[in-house]
Amino acid sequence: MVKRRQTRKVLVGDKAHGWVGIGGDAPVSVQSMTSGYTHDIGACIAEIHKLAAAGADMVRVAVPEKKDTLALKEIIPQVQVPIIADVHFHFQRAMEAIEAGVHKIRLNPGNISDRAEVKDVIQACAARKLPIRIGVNEGSIVERKDKQKRMKELGGVFSDNKHGHLLAIMIAKLEEYLEIFQAENFHDIVISAKSIDPLLVIDAYREISNRCDYPLHLGVTHAGPKETGTIRSIVPLGHLLASGMGDTIRISYANDPVYEVQDGLELLYVLGLRTRKGAELIACPSCGRIQVDLFKLVQEVRKELAAHIRLPIKVAVMGCVVNGPGECEGADIAIFAGDRKGIIYVQGQKVANVPEEQILTTLLDECRKFQARVEAGQTRLGEKVVDILPPQPLVQLGGLAKG
Ligand code: SF4
Repeated sequence: MVKRRQTRKVLVGDKAHGWVGIGGDAPVSVQSMTSGYTHDIGACIAEIHKLAAAGADMVRVAVPEKKDTLALKEIIPQVQVPIIADVHFHFQRAMEAIEAGVHKIRLNPGNISDRAEVKDVIQACAARKLPIRIGVNEGSIVERKDKQKRMKELGGVFSDNKHGHLLAIMIAKLEEYLEIFQAENFHDIVISAKSIDPLLVIDAYREISNRCDYPLHLGVTHAGPKETGTIRSIVPLGHLLASGMGDTIRISYANDPVYEVQDGLELLYVLGLRTRKGAELIACPSCGRIQVDLFKLVQEVRKELAAHIRLPIKVAVMGCVVNGPGECEGADIAIFAGDRKGIIYVQGQKVANVPEEQILTTLLDECRKFQARVEAGQTRLGEKVVDILPPQPLVQLGGLAKG
């Protein structure tokens, strides 16, 4: 079980949009960002609904122009999750977003650094009890252009690290900025320090964790397409979360942000940091022993479970009985395929032996019945899962157990 680092807690939201805690005893939250224009009000609302339906706890929107902050006045009353304004370059956008009723502000120290302007934003947020994320981003640190010189000015700290120069600049930038907040006695702060480099991300958050107890927003910036961005994101985020760091996460892909939410939630589920909503599907990778179209079956099962199962029922789809019984230990419901057939077990008991074309419907039917029994209090998830025995006789499965 992950032992989480103790951080301060900030609250994001209001009565109408719900409250999301970041830090302290709050579960790690998942956020994402809309990909369209905020001033395209209908499309923006639709995208926020879509992200919330996928499980986003909060949604961030870009507000590069005044028409975007004006749009927030119409958007915020029509959505159900807290909204964060992502502010760059123009501190006025933060002031307008606060006025429009936004629930949290993100400031980038790399492009809003005027002390008086930052102070104005802090005071406006303090008056409305709104948290601010200080979002340091490797890509927008001006000094990185002259990083060797800047590293020397900073005393060469971290220079034995491969990323020492950038890490030093990011930490120095953060500390300069934090000083403005602390002078205002403002502590409703969330911190992020993003880079494209997973190792730099790990080092940056570790360093920040050693220096302060503000909650951390974890993320990798411009991680790329989902196909490769998943690895780039999950490596550092998984490492940090498993080490107890991180209070809210955003995975960023050059793709539909719904994937960001889905993958963020899955990461938290597998680490035991959030309670799973919906079924958990495990499946074997298939091999030369397979005698059904396992990949197709797994995808069909995944879609059907997502559509029909509300409870975190653990479902295993195994290609044969060779390793299946051991590998699906812990599953509430399991199917062992073989010889164009499937044998279905519920809570360790064999309940069906059906031809391949009936596997999907029979499995789903058993999942639904099991869900109903759990909801009626007749049984519990995770009970009677460990003593699944190989189906007998094995010859009925085409002798697949020989391997
Ligand atoms: Fe191969 Fe059977 Fe293992 Fe699937 S369960 S990978 S088919 S041995």
